[in-house]
Formats: sequence, C-alpha cells, structure tokens
Amino acid sequence: MTIPFIDIQAQRGRIGDAIDAAILQVTRSGQFVMGPQVHEFEAKLAAFGNARHALSCSNGTDSLMFLLMAWGVGPGDAVFCPSFTFAATAEVVALLGAIPVFVDIDPSTYNIDAVHLEATIEATKREGRFTPRVIIAVDLFGQPADYPALATVAHAHGLKLLADTAQGFGCRLHGKHPLHWADASSLSFFPAKPLGAYGDGGAILTDDDELHDVLSSIRVHGQATPRDAAARGFEHDPKYLNMRLGSNGRLDTIQAAVLIEKLTIFEDEIARRNKIAARYSNALAPHVARVPEIIVGAVPTWAQYTIEHEDRDGLAAHLKSQGIPTAVYYPIPVHQQPAYNCYPVGPGGLPVTENKASRVISLPMSPYLDDATQDAIVVAVKSYG
Ligand SMILES: *Cc1c(COP(=O)(O)O)cnc(C)c1O
Repeated sequence: MTIPFIDIQAQRGRIGDAIDAAILQVTRSGQFVMGPQVHEFEAKLAAFGNARHALSCSNGTDSLMFLLMAWGVGPGDAVFCPSFTFAATAEVVALLGAIPVFVDIDPSTYNIDAVHLEATIEATKREGRFTPRVIIAVDLFGQPADYPALATVAHAHGLKLLADTAQGFGCRLHGKHPLHWADASSLSFFPAKPLGAYGDGGAILTDDDELHDVLSSIRVHGQATPRDAAARGFEHDPKYLNMRLGSNGRLDTIQAAVLIEKLTIFEDEIARRNKIAARYSNALAPHVARVPEIIVGAVPTWAQYTIEHEDRDGLAAHLKSQGIPTAVYYPIPVHQQPAYNCYPVGPGGLPVTENKASRVISLPMSPYLDDATQDAIVVAVKSYG
C-alpha cells in the first residue's frame, strides 16, 4: 500500500471534469492574463471570506510582500512574526530591508503567543533602534491564531495586523474569518494548501478600499489606479503611468478558472477535514505525547494534522518502512536558519519554538482520506512504542 502524504488528486474524482472544462474554456478564449475568470474568482473569494475586497495575485509570498509594500514598510521598521512558520513569513520583511523580530509561540496551538508578543514590542520600543510597524500572525497548520488577543496588542501599539492565512484560509474563530480582526489577510493557493490551484497563486483580503486600490497598482508595476489617472488627467493606458514601485504579480486566468470550481466544494472539504482530524485525535490521544489542541470557538482547515512524539524521527522511520509518509513542519525554526539567524528574537529567546521543532510530526491528511486508510495509519502509529 502506498499512501500519499497529501492526496491532491483524490478531488479529481469529484470535480476533475468541471476543472478540465474550465481550463479548456480559457485555452480557447486566449485571455490568459486577467481574463474574466480572475474577476469572477475575486468576487466569489471575497464573498466566501466575508471581505469587501479580494485581490488575487501570483502566490502567497507576493501577497505578504505586496501588503508590506502598500503599508510602506522598509529600512528601520520592525515587523513581529513567529519563527515557527514557513520562511516566507519573515523573508518578505527582510527583502524589503525591514527587520523581522521573532516571537515565541503558544505551546498548545503553535501560534504566536500574544503575551510574548507584547513583551517583544515593549523591548523593541525601549531599545529604540527600529520602529514597530506590523504584526504578522500565522494560522499554523490551519488553526486560527488568537486574533482577539492579537488585535488588542495591535491597537494598543498602533500596529497593523496581518493574518498570514496561507495554511488557514477558510478557518473560523467564533464563526468569523481572521480578517474580522486583521487589517488584511494573505492567502496561498499552492497546490498542497487546503484551497490549492493547479500551480502557484495567492490573494489578499481586506475591507480597506484605499489599500485595495494601492494593491491593485502594486500588482501591475505600480500602474496608475483609476483615481490616480483621473487626478493627473492621464488619458493613455494606465500601465504607462507608474505611481509607485510594484511588480508583475497577477494570478493566471487558468488558475482562477480552476479555483472557481474548487471554491464550490471548499466548505464541504473543510467539514471533511475536521471529521478526519477528530477521528485521528480520538484514536491517537492515548498513544502519543500530544494530539492537536483546538482553541475554544475555532474551526481549523487542517492544512496539516500534526502530533508530538518523544521519538519523532524514530516514528517517521517506522511509518516509512510501512509505506506511510510523514513530514516535519518545521525541523529548523526560521530564527535558526542560516539566512535569518542575524535577526532579533524577543526577550528570553524562543524556548517553546525550539522545543516544538524537535517533537512535531505531521500525518497524511486530505479531505478524501478514507476510514480504512486512516485506520491503517493509526495502527502503524500505535505499533511504535
Ligand atoms: C505556503 C506559505 C506561504 C507562501 O505561499 P506561496 O504561495 O508558496 O508563496 C506563506 N506563509 C505560510 C505560513 C505558508 O504556509
């Protein structure tokens, strides 16, 4: 038996024909860049995410980067983020010449710890070398961060709150999306994410009209927005009036067409993921050091189903010998990576992050993981000491 770690093809049995037809429609139309499906997808994504605006873009990394660019983050600025995350969260900060300041995580959810965040902001202010600007929260493994607490900290210090919901788009806290508390959320449609495209893609959700305008300009080389062009009396193609630095950051029409189809079953897939996660937890809780803990009022998207084990590497080898793949997110926290160990960490360092990085292991998860396969995985985990 070979079990895929994330079975991205299982969904094709359900909507593969519709997706193929949607792709064919784009190939026949020839509208490969900013075709009508891009706008249709943005409208549907905004409705799903309960946002005033959804702006699609090239990938999740650019969605983070474009937000920081729109807010004018640069040299001398501090951006607070967890270290227990995918490197992109901190990478975009450093690329803009700003300073990522790493904050520890809550030991039960793996998400940024609001108490250590507060202490880190205070310490940065006391030191006075960098200006606090933005907090980036990550919905690690698909579980919402503690947004009410984070929003309180952000407001108290006059900082922007960005929800890096690359793994958690579709998650809810007390029935609300992270955007309810954040100034914007950034999404990734990398194929293995819960809402994955057939290639790279990303998006930004926000309720802020002006931010949306600036982002749509940054997405296309800083081109004039309709407002910019009117103010200047510019009557040529707005592409040729460059108001600010931007990039080439559009979502392909083909990916938008794929995502329109995928969005129709996304809510049902989140429900399936939650059933599968509960089934794992019931079976495994007595046998492993920790099964995921869900904070009160949260419905995660389960980008990963992650447990802790005293002998994580031994368990991985044991499962591999039985044809069961696992993955470790993340074996080296960002602040210990060669490219990032020059950046500051909050007071007292990041002991929780470092401890968790040596203990976590993720098991196969997809909305279409069937009971028999899941039972075989559970039996294999239990059979390892
Ligand atoms: C995947 C991911 C990103 C980057 O998304 P890409 O689409 O791969 O660029 C950013 N942050 C987190 C937390 C992620 O998991």
